[in-house]
Amino acid sequence: MGKTDYYDVLGVSKNASEEDIKKAYRRMAVKYHPDKNPGDKVAEEKFKEVAEAYEVLKDSDKRAAYDRYGHSAFAQGGAQAGGWGSGGHDPFDIFRDVFGGSGFDDLFGFGRHGSSGESRRQAGSDLRYNLKITLEEAFHGTEKTIKYSKHVTCAKCSGSGAAPGSKKVTCKTCGGTGVFSMRQGFFSMQQTCPDCHGAGTKIETPCHNCRGTGRVMESCTTKVKIPAGIFDGASLRMRNMGEAGANGGPNGDLYVAIYIMENKRFERHENDLYCTRKIPFTMAALGGEIEVETVDGQANLKIPAGTQSETMFRIKGQGMPDLNRPGNRGNQYVKITIDVPTKLSREQKEKLQEFEKMCNMKSGGFFQRFKEKFESL
Ligand SMILES: [Zn+2]
Ligand SMILES: [Zn+2]
Repeated sequence: MGKTDYYDVLGVSKNASEEDIKKAYRRMAVKYHPDKNPGDKVAEEKFKEVAEAYEVLKDSDKRAAYDRYGHSAFAQGGAQAGGWGSGGHDPFDIFRDVFGGSGFDDLFGFGRHGSSGESRRQAGSDLRYNLKITLEEAFHGTEKTIKYSKHVTCAKCSGSGAAPGSKKVTCKTCGGTGVFSMRQGFFSMQQTCPDCHGAGTKIETPCHNCRGTGRVMESCTTKVKIPAGIFDGASLRMRNMGEAGANGGPNGDLYVAIYIMENKRFERHENDLYCTRKIPFTMAALGGEIEVETVDGQANLKIPAGTQSETMFRIKGQGMPDLNRPGNRGNQYVKITIDVPTKLSREQKEKLQEFEKMCNMKSGGFFQRFKEKFESL
């Protein structure tokens, strides 16, 4: 896929601490911030890239998934328009999260993403949907339709929160500053205005549909394309499919967490599949061939003469598809257990006793050897 490793992007080692990762992000984000590099496309890309890397590595769950599966942990179920992609949240929001409310502007004296007074852009929350699929579906890849509820922008007021014809008026509580000052003893304390939540303005008449919030809850359905070879615990990111942002902020993402249900036939480890097969004890001794069920068909397995119980045989290339290397498959492992008959006919019993005698004569059975030892004392 040609994507740079997230650790390399931030210039940290694989076992870097959370603190190191944050430090590295701070350093890189300041260096490549578009306000510091106006018109520089390369810096802008870098700025986005470090935000994306940081967003994954700062979260222990996402980091663990990334360590294990690389970029495909946040995989692309196919090139669907509006579907998943790499890339994360608005890199400016990530920047603000790390550097605090107002961001670069106040820190470094640049003014572009100004925030004081104006309503702050706010990214919508990410959503998580748990999706159970079968091992067979994981094998072939599948498409599922999921239904979930989320906050969307109110259609009545286009997200402004104001009733039609209603205007925004300056907040009386803070006089439009968005900040509320109180005195406590010697100290003057400042806090975000509780009336306008820091916006400095208030809506005259709130929209009825959303009660002034600008967002409403809506149930929606979407198709999720699940790539063949998906693993248990994978998280598919569907960009912009999360909750609506506020004041023009970007939507959150929808993370579809994949759970693969237990399978009666196979146990999966990475891309390999494991199963157990019983064979008659005669076949174990004499050798033979059996038919083994594979995840998508059957395969023949040769049993060599003298096979011991618990022997593991490998059937090459009959495991799960490799998500990272299309066209490749893991292996299937068959553990052999030996079926000892519990009911024998009289004739079978006699034959076996005869067989046992032959064995004792050849190698000197246990009693024979015991007797010899005893007599020699
Ligand atoms: Zn106010
Ligand atoms: Zn509304």
